[in-house]
Amino acid sequence: MNTEIFNVKNPGTEGYSRAISRGAELLRAGELVAFPTETVYGLGGNGLDGAACRKIYEAKGRPSDNPLILHVADFEGLKKIVSRVTETAEKIFAAFMPGPITVILPRSACVPDAVTGGLDTVAVRMPDQPVARDLILAAGLPVAAPSANISGRPSPTNGETVSRDLSGRIGAIMDGGSTDWGIESTIVDCTEADGADTVTILRPGAVTAEMLGEIIGTVKQAAPTSAAETESGLKRAPMAPGMKYTHYAPKSPLTLAADKETLLKEYQRRRSEGEQVGLLLFAEDYPDCEAEYKCSLGSRANLREIAAGLYDRLRYFDELPVDSLLCPIVPREGLGVAIMNRLGKASGGRMI
Ligand code: AMP
Ligand code: MG
Repeated sequence: MNTEIFNVKNPGTEGYSRAISRGAELLRAGELVAFPTETVYGLGGNGLDGAACRKIYEAKGRPSDNPLILHVADFEGLKKIVSRVTETAEKIFAAFMPGPITVILPRSACVPDAVTGGLDTVAVRMPDQPVARDLILAAGLPVAAPSANISGRPSPTNGETVSRDLSGRIGAIMDGGSTDWGIESTIVDCTEADGADTVTILRPGAVTAEMLGEIIGTVKQAAPTSAAETESGLKRAPMAPGMKYTHYAPKSPLTLAADKETLLKEYQRRRSEGEQVGLLLFAEDYPDCEAEYKCSLGSRANLREIAAGLYDRLRYFDELPVDSLLCPIVPREGLGVAIMNRLGKASGGRMI
């Protein structure tokens, strides 16, 4: 399949409008279109068309019991795909939507099983990104969109990375440059009975537990999926579908190190055994680590910078002759919870 690639970095130009129209036309015809959001790139298909959604699973090599998120442009579009809006969801809409958050609500009958994996709930998101919004509005559909990568790989945060994973497998790529947050949306289960004032975070993201706690009575956290994610203090709820799969993995095995000393000691040990090792380092530690294969995660004081570049850094080492990777952990506070969740999965829970 020939994948059409469009530059959509300049909203308001004629080229931009033409690209959006063509993308919308492909979506309505049941084809797949990758597009930027404020989190990562999505691989979009008509969310009301089971056949289009099955194409998404096929293009990504995604397990079919891992449900998709439906993307809408406004509350009118959102209300068509859910059968009920709970009180907690209303509060989240008012505080954080549009934005980097997905809510789980009871599904409406028009949502195909291919989207939900047969569940009676649906995941809904309203991106705050002009290309995503314009494309969804022009298509006039809810757009089903998981991250636009081959299943299991780090999510793409720019158009070239999408192209490397999916060129030849999908109809079009809308290249809007680098995404803002760099990690996937916070997913919040809002299906508790009205009056309960409780939600469960199924996947941490840019909208943090602290932020949700300011508007919701009780914020629970879903069970951790790896040792590196394990932390105490939060009440645990059952795992969500899809959470059992390995995600975000670079090609060489990644191990997380508790601090700089542990990381450097392990680096020396592996080097002495003849291994080629790639180091991910905080900007502050980068200059004094003598390693052939290293890259900077950004300042340890700037979690936003670390999140925005994380997947690109993991993919950077895929092109280098390294046998393994070492990366420091970040404090599990604020956005650090989401970063550690992704690093936990990327490392399969290996931590020293
Ligand atoms: P991705 O599209 O790769 O960002 O992943 C979407 C994630 O959303 C899946 O892995 C599921 O964990 C979650 N999800 C989607 N629909 C539902 C649902 N109805 N209930 C619970 N989780 C869901
Ligand atoms: Mg994904």
